[in-house]
Amino acid sequence: MQDLRDLLGRITDLNHAAALLEWDQETYMPEGAAESRARQVATLRSLAHELLTSKEASSKIQTAQPESDIDKDLIRVVARDIEKATRVPSSLIAELAQASGMSKGFWQKARSENRFDVFAPHLDKIVDLTIQHAEALGYEETAYDALLDQYEEGMTTAEVTSVFEDVKKGLVPIVQTIADAPPLSDAVVRGDFPLKNQWDFGLDVVKQMGYDLNHGRQDKSAHPFSTAFSITDVRITTRSDASFFNPGFFGTLHEAGHAMYEQGIDLKLEGSPLADGTSLGMHESQSRMWENLVGRSRPFWDHYFAEAKALFPAALGQADVDSFYRSINTVASSPIRVEADEVTYNLHIMLRFELEQDMIAGKLSVADLPDEWNHRMETWLGIRPENDAEGVLQDIHWSLGAIGYFPTYALGNLMSVQLFNAAISDIPQISEGLANGQFAPLLSWLRENVHQWGRRKTANQIMMDATGTGLSADPWMDYIRTKFGDLYSF
Ligand code: ZN
Repeated sequence: MQDLRDLLGRITDLNHAAALLEWDQETYMPEGAAESRARQVATLRSLAHELLTSKEASSKIQTAQPESDIDKDLIRVVARDIEKATRVPSSLIAELAQASGMSKGFWQKARSENRFDVFAPHLDKIVDLTIQHAEALGYEETAYDALLDQYEEGMTTAEVTSVFEDVKKGLVPIVQTIADAPPLSDAVVRGDFPLKNQWDFGLDVVKQMGYDLNHGRQDKSAHPFSTAFSITDVRITTRSDASFFNPGFFGTLHEAGHAMYEQGIDLKLEGSPLADGTSLGMHESQSRMWENLVGRSRPFWDHYFAEAKALFPAALGQADVDSFYRSINTVASSPIRVEADEVTYNLHIMLRFELEQDMIAGKLSVADLPDEWNHRMETWLGIRPENDAEGVLQDIHWSLGAIGYFPTYALGNLMSVQLFNAAISDIPQISEGLANGQFAPLLSWLRENVHQWGRRKTANQIMMDATGTGLSADPWMDYIRTKFGDLYSF
């Protein structure tokens, strides 16, 4: 068992060293170093992969005698990792890496020149290789199951479809109702927001939420993210806009939500592959909870508005908490996913989920993709993108070969409300705390029920144990109806 732990520790160290190089690449690395850095990261990642798929690892997994429940979980989880990693021929992995490496540049060019035809042949190739990848991974019902399972282990396409259908049924009429209602203004959050004060305010709030800067730090990057090099070093990055409050502040809360998840993992799991978020959906549930359920709530701003007003007198001097609250919660259909509000966001995801399935099933050709995209945007969100750059070309994911990833964003939104409701019903002081800037009751519930487990429990097990049922769309739909029904009087 100790031999196995040591080997897995070495693999984990290699992966974390690669993550540190990647963090540096996005924050401080001089641009000219991109090529050598890509090589260095690839070297570390492939060493980790070789160790994981080695005969040595397989034989240690088979012979190790577990000495604790953690050991048993470790053996189960890693055996599955090894099994998955060895199912796909390395030639196919290399082909996929090569195709996505090539395709990213063409996607960038296609988006900036608004020419889908520049990206189309590369996407064609990626879809083709992804189908082969799914076949190699194996599945029970549909090839898409294999792709989804990479990001949301144990979740099937049929389960996601059923939950998403409930959301779609409830949501499309709400989006229509809001579109017909008098619009709310977001003028309050658009004004003069000095970057230094945004930085200080965001960091101050996430510290109070429980993000531990003794084991973390914040830096700037073009695309905000969070990353962990161990349970004791979990970092976030942020990007702010001096004339718009929302991206910097709520982005900081979002990334800190991810980071608090990783900081909360049981220290007994340190250095092992169990010390990670259990799925992308569960990870996103944590970021969305702090960003939206806490950060965009009325009680939160009853407490923090005075501080915000003092820090941003030019923009907020004449505003009151009511107008500010409305301003951070305006709903407006936008063609762009990353700019979408809480109400419309999930529709952006469902559109991608359906189109991905059709492409993988061979029912939709890449050539027909832009029209199909625009058609669904119009049917569900009532808007048609003006061009492909703000339509089908807007996201990087497909160019990286990440098909099956999008649904986890919406799953995270749904999980966040279900978990939040369970937390509040277990510990009523959580609600009071939110109105007083006291987040410890919520964080300790999350530590206990979600964070500490790392990968020892699947997302579904966490949902069952913490909320008593599997994932359901109902809590999220109720939340949307209550909050936005109040804001938009429906
Ligand atoms: Zn996120």
